[in-house]
Order: sequence, then structure tokens, then C-alpha cells
Amino acid sequence: MQATQRAIGILGGTFDPIHHGHLRLGLELYDALRLKLVLFTPTGHPIYRKQPVATPEQRLKMVQCAIAKESAFMVDDCEIKRQGPSYTVDTLSELRQKYPHSPFCLLMGIDAFLGLSSWHKWQEILQHAHIIIAHRPHYSLPHSGVIADLVKTHLQENSNYVHENLSGGILLKPLTPLEISATDIRKQIAMGRNPRYLLPDSVYEYIQNEQIYRIR
Ligand code: ATP
Repeated sequence: MQATQRAIGILGGTFDPIHHGHLRLGLELYDALRLKLVLFTPTGHPIYRKQPVATPEQRLKMVQCAIAKESAFMVDDCEIKRQGPSYTVDTLSELRQKYPHSPFCLLMGIDAFLGLSSWHKWQEILQHAHIIIAHRPHYSLPHSGVIADLVKTHLQENSNYVHENLSGGILLKPLTPLEISATDIRKQIAMGRNPRYLLPDSVYEYIQNEQIYRIR
């Protein structure tokens, strides 16, 4: 199948809760690559990490609140709806049915990329999408091993590559460093501290109304 439309960014995460680090990642890569849009795909049932604190429905709702006013962003609930573990390779196949002619760019921080070789069918991911790696402080790419080899084989310098090909390229992009993590936000709320300005006000209001992350 030929690429006849601009590439779509796909930003997966547990979003427990979504915060400004995630939103800047989506927006800066949207601008840098001139993407058609960025789809946020909240994980339904993660298997490679601790289970989220908020329910899948609450995490979906928080993403909806966070992106409501940003026309570049959309949310897709395919992972939340799917039964069983959330594998990115399944998400990409499902999204391909909806968007047959758009290249996909899987957007991720370098911390997430470094764990790629533990993902289900990880060698197949580049058959479905490009991978865009955003730099984050304190992380760097390895010089040897499977991840280093993957980068060497697929690295592309020119952003046009992601619009001209449906999948298969790896691009490295700079990102404004924001030391925000969902883990830290959850801790702050549990300790009764105010996490405002780390995440959108609309998301914090939802968290307060639903009483998520509070120690009972
Ligand atoms: P947790 O603290 O619960 O592990 P998190 O804040 O790291 O969560 P995730 O949902 O695990 O968020 O991350 C989803 C994606 O967002 C990953 O690709 C990760 O690299 C990226 N990401 C998370 N936080 C930031 C940040 N502050 N800046 C840039 N990218 C981020």
C-alpha cells in the first residue's frame, strides 16, 4: 500500500495521569515532523509495568480532558476496548484498518525506546510504523546490542521520509526537557500536595472530583 497522506503520530502511554510532559512530546513532534495529527492511545491493560492506579475509563477521560482544546490531537480508545494485554503491534494493525494510506509515527521518549526489545513482537513494529525517539535528560542510546543495531539499520535524517513511506524509519528528535512524571504526580496527590502546573487544570479537576490517587 502506498503512502498518499501525511503521517499520523501515535503516542501510547498509561497516562496515569496524562501531564504536560506527554503533551509537549506530542506537540513538539507534531510541529517538527509536520504531522497530520497525533493520536493518543491510552493503554488498556499494560503487562510490562505495574498496573495503573486509575481505571482505564478514568485514564481515557483524563486524556480527553487534556486534549479537548488542541485541534492537532485526538484520542483513540482501541486499547481500552480490546480484551487482554495491550500490545502496540496489535494497536498498529487495528489503526491500519482505520487509516490505510497514512504512514504511522510511533512517538516515544528515549526511556521507552530503550525497553523496546522486551515488547511483544518488537521486531515487527517497524513493519507497521516509523519510530520517532525524543531525547530526554539522563538517557542515551547504547553503542552495541540489538537496540543499537536497530537504530543503525533504520536511522533516517530527513523528516520527509516519514511522509513518503508507510513505515520503517527511525528518527531522533530534540525535545524541551520537562522533568515531569506521572509517578511523581501520583505521589504528590497522595501526600496532599498541589500538583498544579505539572498537568492541565482540567485533568487535575477531574482527579479531584473522582478522588483518584488519594490515600484512603
Ligand atoms: P509513570 O511515571 O507512571 O511511569 P510516565 O509519566 O513516565 O508514567 P508514561 O505513560 O509511562 O508516562 O509514558 C508514555 C510516554 O511518554 C513514553 O514514551 C515516555 O517516554 C513519554 N514521557 C513521559 N513523561 C515524559 C516527559 N516528562 N517528557 C517527555 N516524554 C515523556
